[in-house]
Amino acid sequence: MSEGAAKKEEKPRKFQAIRGTRDLLPPETALWNRVEQTAHQVFATFGFGEIRPPIFEATELFARSVGSETDIVSKEMYTFVDRSEKLEPQPVIGSMDVFLQRVKQLYKSGEIPHDEIGLELVEKQWKKVDDLLKGASSIESGAIEIYELIMLFEALRLGGDVSLRPEATASVCRAYIEHGMQSLPAPVKLYYMGPMFRRERPQKGRYRQFYQIGAEVLGGSDAPAIDAEVIEMVVLFFDRLELQGVQLDINSIGHSADNCRRGYVEKLKAALDKVKDKLGPDSQRRIETNPLRVLDSKLESEQAIIATLPRIADHLCEDCAAHYAAVKHQLEMRGVIYRENWRLVRGLDYYMRTTFEITAQGLGSQNAVCGGGRYDGLVELLGGPPTKGIGFAIGEDRLILSLQESGKAPAMQGRDVYIAWMGERAHATAIRAAKDLRKAGFSVELPPVEQKFGKALGQADKLGAKHALILGDNEVFEGLWTLKTLADGSQAKFTEADLLEYLRKSESLSS
Ligand code: AMP
Repeated sequence: MSEGAAKKEEKPRKFQAIRGTRDLLPPETALWNRVEQTAHQVFATFGFGEIRPPIFEATELFARSVGSETDIVSKEMYTFVDRSEKLEPQPVIGSMDVFLQRVKQLYKSGEIPHDEIGLELVEKQWKKVDDLLKGASSIESGAIEIYELIMLFEALRLGGDVSLRPEATASVCRAYIEHGMQSLPAPVKLYYMGPMFRRERPQKGRYRQFYQIGAEVLGGSDAPAIDAEVIEMVVLFFDRLELQGVQLDINSIGHSADNCRRGYVEKLKAALDKVKDKLGPDSQRRIETNPLRVLDSKLESEQAIIATLPRIADHLCEDCAAHYAAVKHQLEMRGVIYRENWRLVRGLDYYMRTTFEITAQGLGSQNAVCGGGRYDGLVELLGGPPTKGIGFAIGEDRLILSLQESGKAPAMQGRDVYIAWMGERAHATAIRAAKDLRKAGFSVELPPVEQKFGKALGQADKLGAKHALILGDNEVFEGLWTLKTLADGSQAKFTEADLLEYLRKSESLSS
């Protein structure tokens, strides 16, 4: 085959975004920016500062905090083995002995987790290959053995387990401990925004890379006013964005001590065991792993059964009941409208007492835009001092979807001025005009090459420009520039200074 024919046949691979991930494009990104700007503004008025934790952390951090039994940790995390930077990138066969010695050293010093079995397999195989090579047999005869060595070597763990974060509360708590934030004036109020990763089944409003905006209050007391103020802040944020159909559900799931949640979970489990046959496989499994989660079920066939189950409100200890009553009172004092929902338990292990969820319109079955709750034991669980904590996470993708559904999406960003220039001298003036107009805050499109005026005006129209500034030899010579208003086709001449003034005025009239 000729080189040309081979080239023709070799079609370059077309790449697509990975399943469950997507590109956010203009003009939609303008809405994302508006949402994020509003979050920065609103959260700052409540005294929150921004934290930007890393996107990946030790897998163990999520296993311990989110809970190893949860779907998130057991099925949905993107986990990989990192490679210790203390190891050379890849040993060549000749330096294998030295490399394996180094791995052993690092295992011993605890700098990378042990993988005794993997190491033993590699060593055995290496010995085989080494013997073969020493026996001066041909490379071909040893090819399979070498291949096997490479495979075993690839499987050898040379670093710790890390995961892309499925949520950020664990990272914020880790950072709180790591930076000794308990010595700061309490409570410490932090917020974050950014991508999270969960290998869920993608559908509308559910992605594998999705974005959360969240906040955490750590340290100080567990005063019910803190719970209420955090909820008030989210509601205010949604209000500012004019999110439609906002519904706040709250609940208390007690705490983990003997006489409160544990007692309730036992009663719940006993009641569930009696109706087990009538439940679907997911709920049946959850009776064993996490009975509270059965209450989360959206399965139509299970609803009547769930309605008969014991309710946690009847089993709260005195302290938890008083805390819950006070949170409700505090919400009322703030004029926050809520609905009590005894089935709201939330998916993550670390929650206790107050839990809440906010839904919005236009989202179908994935209608939760925010989930949150109290997690007083979490910092301690991660090796920090006993610390009170409460927080929430907003699903930004869903928030945006809901805003778009209710017509809050911005239109394609147009241009204020399209500069239609012709001629070398006009080009120089056009460059200066673009600079000055942009400095004054106008969005300007300056075509890189000369165009006939007719074509330039058509282009200006396509880009949704408000005005076309026409600069030809005459205009430059006279020092009078022609400005055409595209909406009505009207045209007027201005000096450079008058033009800026005129545009400023027409801008303030239209905004
Ligand atoms: P969670 O961290 O599970 O409490 O979720 C908090 C919020 O994040 C939910 O109410 C959703 O709005 C959003 N969320 C969670 N998982 C996803 C996902 N896979 N895709 C899009 N949004 C999500």
